[in-house]
Amino acid sequence: MVMEEQCDVAGCSNPKVRTIGRKSVEKIFTLNTKGTKAHLCKEHYKQYKKATKKDRELDRLNWV
Ligand SMILES: [Zn+2]
Repeated sequence: MVMEEQCDVAGCSNPKVRTIGRKSVEKIFTLNTKGTKAHLCKEHYKQYKKATKKDRELDRLNWV
């Protein structure tokens, strides 16, 4: 029997597709687990990528 690992975001029970360093994920989501890594499902990984991209764009637009 294979136990599928789940997304670490609080309230989410989707299977994880990505493992990311916890620090950057913690800025965006509340995580259920402790440790140095965070597991994200497809949906949350998408949101994570979007959120981190937005951060970078905001930095770039700082001169406005
Ligand atoms: Zn999730």
